[in-house]
Amino acid sequence: MNNQEYVVIVRYGELYLKGKNRYLFENALIKNIRNKLKDTNALVEKITGRIIISNIENNAQDIIERVQKVFGISSMSKALKLKTSMQSIKDYCSSIELNGSFKVEVKRADKSFPMISSELEKLLGKIILDNNDNLKVDVHNPEHIVNVDIRETGYTYISFEKIKTLGGMPVGTSGKGLLMLSGGIDSPVAGFLMAKRGLQVNAVYFHSHPYTSEQAKQKVKDLAQIIATYGGGLKLFIVPFTKIQEAIHLQCDNRYTITIMRRNMYRIAEKIALLNDYNCLITGENLAQVASQTVQGITCSNSVLTSLPMFRPLISFDKIETIELSKKMGAYDISILPYQDCCTVFVPKNPIIKPQVEQAQIEERKILDLDQLIDDAIKNVEILNFED
Ligand code: ATP
Ligand code: MG
Repeated sequence: MNNQEYVVIVRYGELYLKGKNRYLFENALIKNIRNKLKDTNALVEKITGRIIISNIENNAQDIIERVQKVFGISSMSKALKLKTSMQSIKDYCSSIELNGSFKVEVKRADKSFPMISSELEKLLGKIILDNNDNLKVDVHNPEHIVNVDIRETGYTYISFEKIKTLGGMPVGTSGKGLLMLSGGIDSPVAGFLMAKRGLQVNAVYFHSHPYTSEQAKQKVKDLAQIIATYGGGLKLFIVPFTKIQEAIHLQCDNRYTITIMRRNMYRIAEKIALLNDYNCLITGENLAQVASQTVQGITCSNSVLTSLPMFRPLISFDKIETIELSKKMGAYDISILPYQDCCTVFVPKNPIIKPQVEQAQIEERKILDLDQLIDDAIKNVEILNFED
């Protein structure tokens, strides 16, 4: 039949999308899907309540895999597109071959279609059943669901499988953030989770050449590229951090070096975020994981921030939960490569577990020209762009 075509039908969480912001969500989602498919011939169009990807030629699998990385989609299916008529739907259903158990689910967005959903489900179910000897109906736990989606456009979409997607909000609808990205397991996952809530995620990496290697830097770049594929592209700011690390190491009480190092990472991250009109900061910190991640340690870092919030999506995670997400997003194999990031180089023998803000300030004032060192670090930042 020449009026048949395969498309990908994209569904998004309709229920919580009532109201005036709906079009912003939809427009961002379409833009992000188009961006993902920009080097293909696929056409991405909105119809009421759905997004349809057509002209998929022989590329369906590749297109589905790419769109699976776009946040804001509740499910999608490869579907047959038919011109809506009772006859065309019945004809197609009589050609379906299935084994095992099944049910038909009809969604009738087109209220002019002459039969209500429940009646059509029975009718089509009977047609399919009559044509397949080894098939039975199971409405509770079927092996196959035949979805018949009759839209207002005059077309009906028939699909068999709902493909799992990531949910969340379209990237860009929540503003922009700056992720403190190390080469570890946690921070890439933190970036992934905030992109899931609609943030466009950029990243800052503090590099302490020659104490940390080029391989450690390359690892961060590779992780940045992975986050970019979920976050709609990414800017990576590589901050030369050696002079500040050395100054802290030489001039402050060594029990406070980690606290003060982290305070200065936060300070620089916030300055870079403000210079670039980003709206928030993100870190992979997790309560009680290491000595610097106690409530007091986090308080000491957080107290240097002047205006932006610091998001910590992993604060309550067990490591095993983080690892699961790291694998899911495809970062794990890179994160576990052995190259050290700068935190591990200057680690003192006895870091203070419960640092105090006042004491951190006293120690920090011992550093000559800290403001100048910070300004220089920001001036010499290396900026790399990663495409989606
Ligand atoms: P990760 O696995 O993300 O490295 P971690 O459990 O090893 O985290 P730390 O290394 O103490 O913990 O770092 C805590 C957080 O501080 C990291 O998640 C990251 O957000 C940030 N961070 C640490 N080192 C750097 C760095 N060199 N550059 C940028 N951010 C960093
Ligand atoms: Mg680390």
